[in-house]
Amino acid sequence: MGAWALLLPLLLAAAQAQGCSVNQTLFEIEENTVLSGPLVDIQVPEGQQVTLGPLTTLHAFRIEGNQLFLNVTPDYEDKTMLLADLQCRRGDTVVAQLKVFVTVLDVNDNPPVFPFEVKRKEVPEDTKVNTIVIPQEELAATDLDKSDILFYTLQEVTPGAGSVFSLVGTNLPALRLDQPLDFDRSQHMTLLLRVRDTWEENAVPSHSATATLVLEVQPADLRPPWFLPCLYSDPHVCVQAQYHGAIPTGHKLPAPLILRPGPIYAVDGDRGINQRIIYSILRGNEDGTFVINADSGNLTMAKSIPSPKTFLLLVKGEQEDQARYAVTQVTVEARAAAGSLPRFPEGLYRGTVALGSGVGVTVQDAADPSQPLRIQAQDPEFPDLNSAITYRITNNSNFRMDGEAVLTAAPLVRAGVFYAEVQANNTVTGGTATTVLEIQVSEQEPPPPTGSPGAGGGAGDSGHGEDQRFSALEMGVLGGVLGALLLLALLALGILVHKHYGPGFQCCSSHVLKPQPYGFDNKAFLPDHREPSWSPAPSPVPSGTPAQVPPATPVPSPPTTPLPAPPPPPAPPSPPSPGQAPESSAARDEDGPAGVRSILTKERRPEGGYKAVWFGGNIGAEADVVVINAPFSDADDADGAGDSGSDSGGDSSGDEGADAGPGWGPRADAPGTDSTYI
Ligand code: CA
Ligand code: CA
Ligand code: CA
Repeated sequence: MGAWALLLPLLLAAAQAQGCSVNQTLFEIEENTVLSGPLVDIQVPEGQQVTLGPLTTLHAFRIEGNQLFLNVTPDYEDKTMLLADLQCRRGDTVVAQLKVFVTVLDVNDNPPVFPFEVKRKEVPEDTKVNTIVIPQEELAATDLDKSDILFYTLQEVTPGAGSVFSLVGTNLPALRLDQPLDFDRSQHMTLLLRVRDTWEENAVPSHSATATLVLEVQPADLRPPWFLPCLYSDPHVCVQAQYHGAIPTGHKLPAPLILRPGPIYAVDGDRGINQRIIYSILRGNEDGTFVINADSGNLTMAKSIPSPKTFLLLVKGEQEDQARYAVTQVTVEARAAAGSLPRFPEGLYRGTVALGSGVGVTVQDAADPSQPLRIQAQDPEFPDLNSAITYRITNNSNFRMDGEAVLTAAPLVRAGVFYAEVQANNTVTGGTATTVLEIQVSEQEPPPPTGSPGAGGGAGDSGHGEDQRFSALEMGVLGGVLGALLLLALLALGILVHKHYGPGFQCCSSHVLKPQPYGFDNKAFLPDHREPSWSPAPSPVPSGTPAQVPPATPVPSPPTTPLPAPPPPPAPPSPPSPGQAPESSAARDEDGPAGVRSILTKERRPEGGYKAVWFGGNIGAEADVVVINAPFSDADDADGAGDSGSDSGGDSSGDEGADAGPGWGPRADAPGTDSTYI
């Protein structure tokens, strides 16, 4: 411009001397300006004409009546300088030339633009902190306004992502990693990248743009297998579990050992990769006593152990790709089992059954009447022997044990509370324990079944479809018929009692449900289908099946027909079983023929679902783990044992239990004492 300023007087002088002239040849105009009038007037001497010469910026100017007009709206991004080449002619002769310059001034009239809307980038989990994850060249926006400086900011969409990534600088839009990545915690992180072409947010004019950044964390093999449950764990570290078990000498247990705190189980610490784990015994397996299943980790005995001994097994869990492995210790103590006593976790068990139930009806849990009552003792020393425990009721002929379930053994025609003693007998160790059973026989209908009809049908269902409900009319008719039958049956009972016990019993005959002969031998109820040893705790499913068979005796039923009982639960809900209950529960989940199949013969399946039946709150918990039971502490064990030790159950039974103490006394007592009415 300085040069033009020097030239200006000369040009003006020449123009004045020889031809046309303008009073200003240099203009500065902001882009986008629309001029309402001429840019400049041209003084044209007589006899001359002014025209636009060939150097004129194309289409930019026009001349009308000796006035120079801007023909376009100037655009700095198109042309920064416009030139009007004015030629003054006389005839065909160019007398003079004038150049008018229009400098276009830039205005911030363009927004910045990102070259993408969404940018996805895979970031390996093991990327080092301070690494540039996305370079500036990939993220920078462009702005046609050449003088604009662009300012970038990052805004987190995924909570926390803003502290994991940052921009190198306000004007340097390179994305940098600020924190170690953790695939388990966050697999995708989304951020908004904003750019503005002014420093001040509320400057006018100001433009901005936004693009989305999605960082996809790619899992890296950072962690070895973890034996669960971890004693301590965080996203990076697991203090591995060690396992303990006790086995009886002289026996080769047929099923996988039950260990504390649970079965041998490892998962890849990198859940995103989740390599399969292969198990093996590294050391300590003297004489090949144990076999570990490479897929499941199940430890089984290859032979019996003749004398007491402690095995310290080093078990390795290795990733299938053999990249990483971990080792833990499994302690197995072989001890003499003779004399080891089973224990009931509860001193008193409460059950409920509908009045009018026939023979073979399952007694439900009073605390949860939709579930069958399960009575379960454990051998605190040898959880593997829990399934060798058999049960029987010693002093009440109205009920009998079927595995861990309680069934009616006689038609129940009187409401009231019954007490019975349940004896557990470990067929391997010979140890026994007893507990008290309190059964409420009430007219209340059991709660509606939640599933398919179960064992509760009994006699009342005979003649009707299992699921069928009765209409009021049907109920009325049925009630009448059954009432008559009840009357007849009571009459017959009365005669029978009278014949057996003579006049002395007359007064009570109408109150006694079913007279008990002296020393009624409950051995009759010993499970005839059981093996003497390793006998089953039959699964509830088969045990319920016989109950569906209508009893041969025509038993009067109450008008309110008991609804079909729900299916037995897969695992015992109560009492909380100390020790290794989860293992046996899992085994019982499988079907068995008619309750005679020993659960100890069940092979653990290698599938992950079965494997992970009990783990909770650990790394694997979110994957394919079904939590049935939390691991137990030794303290729980001790508590449970203490409860079961007090066989009268006075501590937990409450008033009824205390009052009823004599009611369930030894079977040598007088007849009728096994049935107490309240
Ligand atoms: Ca501009
Ligand atoms: Ca701009
Ligand atoms: Ca790994």
